[in-house]
Amino acid sequence: MNILILGSGGREHALAWAVLQNPKCDRLIVAPGNAGIAEIADCATFDINDGATVCAFAEEEAIDFIIIGPEAPLAAGVSDDLRAAGFLVFGPSKAAAQLEASKNFTKSVCDAANAPTADYGHFTDAAAAKAYIAEQGAPIVVKADGLAAGKGVIVAMTLAEADAAVDDMFSGEFGVAGAEVVIEEFMEGEEASFFVLCDGTDILPIGTAQDHKRVGDGDTGPNTGGMGAYSPAPVLNDDIATKAIEQIVKPTVAEMARRGTPYQGVLYVGLMIKDGQPRLVEYNVRFGDPECQVLMMRLGAQALDALQACAEERLANMRIHWADDHAITVVMAADGYPGSYEKGSVIKGLDNITASSSQMVFHAGTTEVSGAITATGGRVLNVTARGPDLQTARDRAYALCTDIDWPDGFYRSDIGWRAL
Ligand code: ATP
Repeated sequence: MNILILGSGGREHALAWAVLQNPKCDRLIVAPGNAGIAEIADCATFDINDGATVCAFAEEEAIDFIIIGPEAPLAAGVSDDLRAAGFLVFGPSKAAAQLEASKNFTKSVCDAANAPTADYGHFTDAAAAKAYIAEQGAPIVVKADGLAAGKGVIVAMTLAEADAAVDDMFSGEFGVAGAEVVIEEFMEGEEASFFVLCDGTDILPIGTAQDHKRVGDGDTGPNTGGMGAYSPAPVLNDDIATKAIEQIVKPTVAEMARRGTPYQGVLYVGLMIKDGQPRLVEYNVRFGDPECQVLMMRLGAQALDALQACAEERLANMRIHWADDHAITVVMAADGYPGSYEKGSVIKGLDNITASSSQMVFHAGTTEVSGAITATGGRVLNVTARGPDLQTARDRAYALCTDIDWPDGFYRSDIGWRAL
């Protein structure tokens, strides 16, 4: 099977690594990829958000299966173009990707599906939004309706903060994403993510994870794209997982099918868990990054079989064989991240690390310059390890971090603290 993966982050390196464990994969191309991916697969550069370009490339390279990593090509409808051209694709249609692209859309699906989530109001002008906030009181959550790269959500502890967030959203700063605003009840509890493959009709859970969004130890400092993650998430036990499937995932999948826009791909179910009850915080229509890294390390070769079964609408007969294992990933980021940071610093020591089915350094933002691996992003490496328990996996990952010689980078020293 010739496989094409779209994307360039740690998520795509992990997907590529897992796909290559499976003997079914004859040839793998990743577009655009990064320096780490280039060590294990062919990389190609073209506009991955342009459906016609992707179709032409897939045709030329006799690709049998395309896996779409990031949200941008999904929101641009690349999966629809590929399907229309007869390709087998992993990734939802543009219409189904609305579950991530519009918070109001997701809320309306939850209403129809009777799925537990925060109460909300939906507004297109500031005065009405502020009147609703005054009525509800603080704390309260103000969200730009559209995709805002994780910056469109303000958890306001006071009414003044909430009003200021509303003014910001309608100021035009968020473009179309902020033209509509969703105001939500503040939910207390512990957050965890549930990853479920959906083939339009049937579903297959493929693991749980928790991530660390804050830049500093003890979950302090500004928000980031994620500084580390681990799987499984202890808070998402079997009982909570069953409730999430029966009350949230299955009704959502049924509602999407009823609307004529069946959901096919991975559903990233962001949950808030309190008193034994999960409620939906958000859906994403792709794997989380860095959560994908720990899921792939646990799934290994099975990942390709599961993704293919999803694309071929065969999930009803698909089972994951779980080892009793735990995986963790520690993100190494450039000094200054998530603020401004330098690009181009050299990373050494990666050659000392032996990759295996229990340890792997996934590259997120790297490029090779004259034989040296250099940092090109904020989040740069994902040091990932697996073990029979979380403590073992964590010790292994942190031991690998000390092998990496990168004076211009940093990492949190407490990934997984909550679970331990
Ligand atoms: P991302 O994709 O980066 O996680 P996003 O822009 O899609 O973010 P959400 O996931 O909806 O936004 O919200 C971001 C974070 O804000 C959540 O992970 C959660 O911590 C917090 N949050 C969102 N909604 C609520 C809520 N109703 N109650 C409490 N916290 C919330």
